[in-house]
Amino acid sequence: LVSREIYPHDTVIDVGNTPVGGDRFAIMAGPCAIESYDQLLETAKQVKAAGATVLRGGAFKPRTSPYSFQGLGVEGLKIMEQVGKEVGMDTITEIMDVNDLDDVARYTSAFQIGARNMQNYTLLKAVGETKHPVLLKRGLSATIEELLLAAEYIVATGNPNVMICERGIRTFETATRNTLDLNAVAFIKEKSHLPVIVDPSHGTGVRTLVGPMAKAGVACGADGLIIESHRNPRESVSDAAQALSADDFSQLMQQLIPFIKAS
Ligand code: PEP
Ligand code: MN
Repeated sequence: LVSREIYPHDTVIDVGNTPVGGDRFAIMAGPCAIESYDQLLETAKQVKAAGATVLRGGAFKPRTSPYSFQGLGVEGLKIMEQVGKEVGMDTITEIMDVNDLDDVARYTSAFQIGARNMQNYTLLKAVGETKHPVLLKRGLSATIEELLLAAEYIVATGNPNVMICERGIRTFETATRNTLDLNAVAFIKEKSHLPVIVDPSHGTGVRTLVGPMAKAGVACGADGLIIESHRNPRESVSDAAQALSADDFSQLMQQLIPFIKAS
């Protein structure tokens, strides 16, 4: 069902008021984690002013260490809904547990399935039973075939509103956090009609590399970008090394404008 052989035309998905796919280009941005109302509000205003229309931010965080900040949970979702309304942005947040499905769907515009859950088939089927948009992130060591089959799970269950996200994979390289696989973007655009979003933040893990790889993502045909930005990157409780300041984010958006399709 996700194959272009079945549906040749680009699928366009509405994330709240933001169309994603086809001739539209979507900018999703925000902090890695929702830390407080003030933090999310300030960051949201900054990224919106720079051109983002979808606010990202995790309320349930899949942290490598059990001792790291795990997110504000439902409280974070409520903050996100409030900030989205106040600033006039659509919202996206990660869902990790089927039990949170109703809350996440109620308070936000789209589900994000994180890399660590790309093959959590119970979760894939559960979001497949809704019509809520889903951003499916590529697993840390998943092949393109496995990624497309994970997307197929959601669509086959009944939810056609799936966006695929390339966020870097594990390779032998250690200079960067992950290796952003831009082959995958061009390849998936050829094979599937689903929108493809590039995440240069997790794809590199390095602040100074986010801009160059965002541009590369646009150049190879992505339908949108998802970028981590924080009002004070150094104080970010998670993924601080890859967070862009408001100025850096805004500068990057200015540089991208000539290259992106309508947004
Ligand atoms: C995130 O978007 O903050 C995140 C945890 O991403 P990933 O699942 O790609 O690691
Ligand atoms: Mn993150």
